[in-house]
Formats: sequence, C-alpha cells, structure tokens
Amino acid sequence: MRATPERVVAPADAADVSAEVKTAVRDGLRVKAIGSGHSFSEIAVAEGVQLRLDRLDSLVDVDAASGLVTVGAGIPLHRLTALLAEHGLAMENLGDIDRQTLAGATSTGTHGTGGRFGGIATQIRGLELVLADGSLVRATSEERPELFDLGRVGLGALGVITTMTLQCVPQFALHVVDEPMPLERVLDEVDELVDGNDHFEFFWFPYTDTALTRRFHRLPGNAEVRPKNRFAHWFDEAVVTNVGWDALLRVATRRPGLVPRVNRSVSGSLSAREYTDLSHRVFASRRDVRFNEGEYAFERGRFREVFAELRYVVGRLDHPVAFPFECRFVAANDIPLAPTYRRQSAYIAFHQYHSMPHQPFFDAVEDVFAAVEGRPHWGKMHRLGADELALRYPRFGDFLALRDELDPTGVFTNDHLDRLLGAPPAAAP
Ligand SMILES: Cc1cc2nc3c(=O)[nH]c(=O)nc-3n(C[C@H](O)[C@H](O)[C@H](O)COP(=O)(O)OP(=O)(O)OC[C@H]3O[C@@H](n4cnc5c(N)ncnc54)[C@H](O)[C@@H]3O)c2cc1C
Repeated sequence: MRATPERVVAPADAADVSAEVKTAVRDGLRVKAIGSGHSFSEIAVAEGVQLRLDRLDSLVDVDAASGLVTVGAGIPLHRLTALLAEHGLAMENLGDIDRQTLAGATSTGTHGTGGRFGGIATQIRGLELVLADGSLVRATSEERPELFDLGRVGLGALGVITTMTLQCVPQFALHVVDEPMPLERVLDEVDELVDGNDHFEFFWFPYTDTALTRRFHRLPGNAEVRPKNRFAHWFDEAVVTNVGWDALLRVATRRPGLVPRVNRSVSGSLSAREYTDLSHRVFASRRDVRFNEGEYAFERGRFREVFAELRYVVGRLDHPVAFPFECRFVAANDIPLAPTYRRQSAYIAFHQYHSMPHQPFFDAVEDVFAAVEGRPHWGKMHRLGADELALRYPRFGDFLALRDELDPTGVFTNDHLDRLLGAPPAAAP
C-alpha cells in the first residue's frame, strides 16, 4: 500500500494533534492518523496530512489491582505487552503479530482466536479523541457512551485517538500444542476443538489433506515456562519467515503448476511440538514472506459448510493458491462495527503470494462469504461498499449518523472510507 500525503507530521501530545487538525482544516486538507501501516486495505491511506502517532506511546497510568491501564494510542503492541509484563499484567488476547499500534489494531477490529474471547477492541474501557473541530473529548460507557460504543472499532473515521484505557488481566502463560492433523478429523471435530481449548486455530494449504493445528491452554503467570526448542520448527519459523519457502514461491510464480507440490511438501514437513511460555511470547510471531490477504467473519455454526465451499472453489481456479487459509474462532460482542457483532464467529483468512495473481481467487472466495452474510476484516482486502455493509451490520446507520454529525466535511475520510461509508454530507467534491 502506498500513500503520497501532502505533509507528514508527528505530534508530541493531544494538544499538538488538535493543533494539526485545525491547521489542516484551515488549509483545506484531509487528515489520516496512521499506525504501523500494516493494513492490507487502503483504510490508512493519507491524502492530505499523514498523522504519525509514534510519539504518543507511553504508559499514562497503571492500576495493577484493577488491571486498568491508560496508554498512548500510538504504542506498538509488542512494546505495550512488554511494559505490561513489567507490571505483572497482560492483554487478554492478541492476534498473530504484534507490530501494529494499539489504535491501529483496534480501529480495524483486529482479533486473535478463542471461542470465549473477543477481538482486541473488547478490552477497551475508555478513549480520548481529537474530533474534526479540534476538540479533545473522552468517551467511556458513562461519558459520551455512543462515541465509546461506536469508536472502539471506528475505522479512523470518527476522530484521532490519543489515549486508550484497557482492561488488562494478570500475567498468564500458555501451554502450546502445535500438531498436524488429518483435515477431515479437524472438520468433524471442530466444535470440540474450539470449545475444548482456550485458543484453537488451524492453517490449511490448498491441495493437501492436512490441517496444521494450534491449541493454547491458559495457565497462571507463575507456571513453569518451557520455551520452544529452537530446533523444533513449526509453521512460523519453518514456513512464513523462511527464505527457502520464499525462494520456492518465486520459482512457482513462473511455474504455477508446481504450487500443489510445494504446498504438500511444506505441509508435510512439520511435526508436532509442545512448549509453555508467557502469553505475549506465544501469541505473536513473525511474518517475513510477502502476501496479499483478505478475511471474513461469519456465523460459526456455518463453518463446515463454508469451508467445503471454499475447497471446491479453490479446486476450480485457473491459477493455484500458494498460501494457506487460516481458520480462527472468536466470541460475539456488542461493538457495532466489529465483524463479530452479536455473532459467535468463525474467521477465515485467505492469502496469496504477493507476486502471484490474487484477484480471481479473492473474487471467488468473496462470493462464498457473501452467501453467508460474511463481514470483512476492515484492515484486509475486500470489495464491499456501503450498500452491502449496511445489510451486514445492523447498526451501520448509527455509525454513519455519528460520523456525519462529528465530521460533516470529511476531515478524516479518504477514498477508501468513502467507498465503505459514503461521502460525508458536506464534504468538498
Ligand atoms: C503480517 C500481518 C499479520 C496480521 N495479523 C492479524 C491478525 O492476527 N488478526 C487480525 O485481526 N489482523 C491482523 N492483521 C491486520 C492488522 O492487525 C490490521 O490491519 C491493523 O489495523 C494494522 O494496525 P496498524 O497499526 O498498522 O494500523 P494502520 O494500518 O496504520 O491503520 C489502520 C486503521 O487505524 C486507523 N488509526 C490508526 N491510528 C489511529 C488513531 N490514533 N486514531 C484513529 N484511527 C487510527 C487508521 O486511520 C486506519 O483506519 C495483520 C496484518 C499483517 C500485515
């Protein structure tokens, strides 16, 4: 994703953010707060002023007894989790990388896996934002509750978040079992696997019969840590950070017929492993090989049906798919624009190696998700616009009404958000 903003600024605090927003409005420029730029969609593309919040990255307040932590919204997750560990605290759940900023991750509904756990935004208890008129406001369940409700997954459309208060939990460890299993068994037993583990997910390489499963059990923070054996490589180390795999995919880009064989050899090369470590060292891993990605959430009860349909569709594509599907399971919540709003959900992410064609593949799988009213991940690639989204989010109209009230001229919009939300009522053409 590339952006060519008119100017880039890095405010030092909320007062600076407010001043930058006012100056941009005076100059007739739009403003886009960005995080780490890790979204696959164009949601963070700045057309006027790119606001980098790297300097809003410190701990403001920590209450170890209640677990309430207030922090600068631009802090990257990996720094936040390390700081929390120093206070004996942790984030309840995380996604599979931790390079994103806290505000960037929550604004797009970033999630991990776990049938009893929500996405990261469910951990938010308070927000401080600079609005389009430059005012600094606080939003909690008591103070401006509508803004709090809608702003937790706010797509960067309601204001610039400067600080966030999170409900953290006491530090905990995770016992990890990584294991290849027959795909058919995983599909048959998926409910038991999701409900019988705190966190369950699996990867499936097209054209193989193996599911690469990951199971995490939560243990107290003082549990004996047995870090992973550095020779027991698994998916992350052996595949997605591996230059060897990248090299194979470069060859397969020129000779697509090799892809099924590459998938089978990668999938078949992994053996089981077990280890225990503190949560923040387990949830996140590296991703070095470049790819394009989309992801949809849908009713968990329809998982098997959707998976079967995806397998069928992938089998009929002209160009084979070289990257795995990633299947995760997330609890329902009450955040209006969270893809898991009021739905116990399964998420399926689809990827393609960056130099292989992805559009026909993505179009075909998006048709599958459309049939089950799937809701796209806001930070990943998808083709939906405001009309379709309004049908999939019961409170979409409330979000638009608040956005139009707070930002009628479209200070915080960009072309991508105009597609998702429609242009604000008084936006300049
Ligand atoms: C390798 C990789 C792995 C990933 N893994 C996962 C995963 O496991 N689970 C998952 O759900 N997603 C995952 N994602 C997607 C990623 O979490 C989201 O795209 C996330 O939004 C990126 O955060 P960021 O800090 O880079 O934000 P950006 O991409 O820079 O911005 C995202 C949005 O947040 C807004 N924003 C940023 N800061 C602020 C602020 N201070 N105030 C208001 N709005 C703001 C931006 O305007 C934009 O709308 C992954 C992405 C990559 C590249």
